[in-house]
Amino acid sequence: MSEAELVAADAVIDLDADSNNCPACMDVIPKGSAQCPGCGLRIG
Ligand SMILES: [Zn+2]
Repeated sequence: MSEAELVAADAVIDLDADSNNCPACMDVIPKGSAQCPGCGLRIG
């Protein structure tokens, strides 16, 4: 994986951020949650 791809992936799911947006439904996933509350997508 190239550095550019790593940056792009980090922009989608940043486990160090206060919150993330689900890549599937764009709902907010609270920090520490391993699952999107909107659609149930599992992250991390
Ligand atoms: Zn979702």
